[in-house]
Amino acid sequence: MRVFIKTFGCKVNYADTEALVSALAKLGHQCSHISSGWGKAAPPDAVVVNTCAVTAGAVKKARQYARRCLREFPRARLIVTGCAAREEKIASQFESLGATIIGNPNLVSEALGKDGLPVPAPEDTRTRRFIKIQDGCNSYCTYCIIPYVRSMECKRGEQVIDEMMESVNTGTPEIVLCGINLGLYTDPDEGYGLMSLLRRALAILPESSRLRLSSIEPEHVTDEMLELFSHPRLCPHLHLPLQSGSDSVLAAMRRNYDSTYYRDLVKKFRKLHPDAAVTTDLMVGFPAETDEDFELTGEMVSACAFERVHIFRFSTRPNTAASEMGLLPSSVVSRRQDKLLALSKSVSQKALARFVGSECEVALEDSGCGYGEAYQRVCVEPSPAETGLINVSLDGLKQGIFKGKALRV
Ligand code: SF4
Repeated sequence: MRVFIKTFGCKVNYADTEALVSALAKLGHQCSHISSGWGKAAPPDAVVVNTCAVTAGAVKKARQYARRCLREFPRARLIVTGCAAREEKIASQFESLGATIIGNPNLVSEALGKDGLPVPAPEDTRTRRFIKIQDGCNSYCTYCIIPYVRSMECKRGEQVIDEMMESVNTGTPEIVLCGINLGLYTDPDEGYGLMSLLRRALAILPESSRLRLSSIEPEHVTDEMLELFSHPRLCPHLHLPLQSGSDSVLAAMRRNYDSTYYRDLVKKFRKLHPDAAVTTDLMVGFPAETDEDFELTGEMVSACAFERVHIFRFSTRPNTAASEMGLLPSSVVSRRQDKLLALSKSVSQKALARFVGSECEVALEDSGCGYGEAYQRVCVEPSPAETGLINVSLDGLKQGIFKGKALRV
């Protein structure tokens, strides 16, 4: 069977899709990842849409995509999986389109069944492999649907190490450990946590590869962890979701830190590792957010000098505590979103500018672009023939993307 797979959302979803692609290949199905269009590819027998439900906008995008697939491929079976398929009310919106709903992506291969002899999984030309080590969350932030749609689960440390080594031995230069709430990682058999797993992984990782943490909640970052970032194979990059710079909004969101803790954490990290990057997620328009609260978020952006900021707009998610709170007028939220976007852009442009004139090691993709260790997005010109980890000089910066030149060592 020819299967198209489209993935929306976070790195955990991408890791789930990768696992699904190899499971389907073992059953004899031919899978294609669909990133933008499907070009002149032959029509599929099935389309799998791996969805995100974190915002109403994310669900809308997946719904539009599903509709488009039904129009273009009327004979194909449409399967909707992932977070949107795990929440009854949201799933019913896809069901009414005629889709088969399978909440857990691991079960999609069972539904499609065997289709012949195993085929090779599509060659992964990406230079980063996302390994999901943890799933689910029990933090119940008041705006978040995740604890209601994903159950808590951790992968055995041995398995994580095996997957990591299998990838680096087949030439993947960067391993990204991902999870819904990475700091909750606990080996299910032996009970050790994230720090021990990281130490074990770094002890055997060859020099031709490196490790990155996808995102970690601020309250899970310890001094010991900050120090571990001195390891040459651990990318000096922390993605620390902040959400708001106002303590009263953070409390209403039921986040487990306040602005002082967060600011001090970033300061400590930057002092220990001046060449490191800190990136974040921010939410605008949370119901309790006043103009003063919003200004405090702006102040935090400037104080933390983030290298990259991802801005979400609050949207009501079913079952969450915040769904009972009144919404702010859309025009107010749009104004705040635009203002925060402009500020974040100028702050990150300034923060990134300090790398111009320096060198970094880029995990180069086929496209000739890739990420440096401190998450600098770099396009190398002229594009070298080889891929993998390449030393590059950073010669210019435009709209958050560096122009680099490959250095011969
Ligand atoms: S920490 Fe909060 S925002 Fe993150 S997944 Fe858990 S509940 Fe959601």
